[in-house]
Amino acid sequence: MNINAERLKSTLRELSQIGYNESDHGVYRWGFTDADMEARRWFLNLAEQEGFKCHMDGAGNVFAGIGDYHETPAVLTGSHLDTVPAGGMFDGALGVLAGFEVLRTLKENDVKLKHPVWVVGTAEEEGRFGGMMGSQALAGVVNMDWLMSAHDADGVYLKDAMAKHNLDVMDVLDAAWPPSRLKAFYELHIEQGPVLFNEEVSIGAVEGISGVFKWIVHLKGKADHAGTAPMNMRSDAFMGLADFAHEIERIIAEDGTDKTRITVGKVELKPGSPHTVPGEAIFTIVGRDMSNEVMTDLADACRKALSAIARKHRLMFEYEQVSWLKPQSCSDKLTQIIEKSAKARNLSCIRMPSGAGHDTQFFSEITQAGLIFIPSVNGVSHAPDEWSHWHDVEAGANILLDCILNSAE
Ligand SMILES: [Zn+2]
Repeated sequence: MNINAERLKSTLRELSQIGYNESDHGVYRWGFTDADMEARRWFLNLAEQEGFKCHMDGAGNVFAGIGDYHETPAVLTGSHLDTVPAGGMFDGALGVLAGFEVLRTLKENDVKLKHPVWVVGTAEEEGRFGGMMGSQALAGVVNMDWLMSAHDADGVYLKDAMAKHNLDVMDVLDAAWPPSRLKAFYELHIEQGPVLFNEEVSIGAVEGISGVFKWIVHLKGKADHAGTAPMNMRSDAFMGLADFAHEIERIIAEDGTDKTRITVGKVELKPGSPHTVPGEAIFTIVGRDMSNEVMTDLADACRKALSAIARKHRLMFEYEQVSWLKPQSCSDKLTQIIEKSAKARNLSCIRMPSGAGHDTQFFSEITQAGLIFIPSVNGVSHAPDEWSHWHDVEAGANILLDCILNSAE
């Protein structure tokens, strides 16, 4: 049995028109904007027209499926329908619509399975309000305080953004699925990195999702006249930052693994004038690894390095840990099913970690979860020129079909 690649392609193209921007060719479906909600209604309409059961939950997650999950645990698949601003047409959309294509294929082949099969298009995965709200709600890990205080970078509150679409933020708490309702969860997603594309591998069987910590660091020295302050009498905060940048390689060599990533991605110098010695450097450190212990060692090493650097340059060192998300393992059983399915279809497949976060990480808290990657051309994602070849899309959707058949029979 195979999915219908042409039908999947045309459905993906249709969805990519919702929120499409002519001038930069990006897709704009930021969580709970008009375009995002239009995509959710479009999905429900499509499912209804084709005779599937469907509904939206209190968090804005949309569902379509076959069978009753109140009686027998369901095999759930899906991904997110929202995008980053100026995103591409595959991130998230692929997992939702490939899942829907699996439903269509099961229906037209009149396949009878023991377990219900459902597809979810999750809400607010891209973090406009600072989380992965849809899948967190499904996993039952959101709380009232966060819901009431969550806001975007422009100061728009989640509760107001939802109210605009007649959604009550309180209903998010009712969206949780008890673990007993689930047999397994699969997500098909583009890799969003260069590994599969460069190595010419068709399928990635994801072993787990990196943990990530984020710090905001302050190095405080003294702002001075860039002409009159002698080099040996300065407390130059930028020099401290530059020294730390050089330490990153050593920290990874001593305390990290080949899966470690440390990034200084945002820097601000104060007062920020060409003729003034920078008195303050404020910057972010984002560290990732597949092991929580390694992450702890990396954080310790960063702290020690920054303390030593601060002493050397006569600076004060402070940091705030903004977030610490533990790594999440995928189910080994499901990862083996992905590998087996790829082998049966003669597709090359490697096991790999995911450096980016995905809905799967929250589903793995309530059920066995598997994550399938297909190649991203040149590793590009979160940009209008994000692309995956149609033959890879087709291969990924067929692997998703095989995995669902395996888990639902
Ligand atoms: Zn995504």
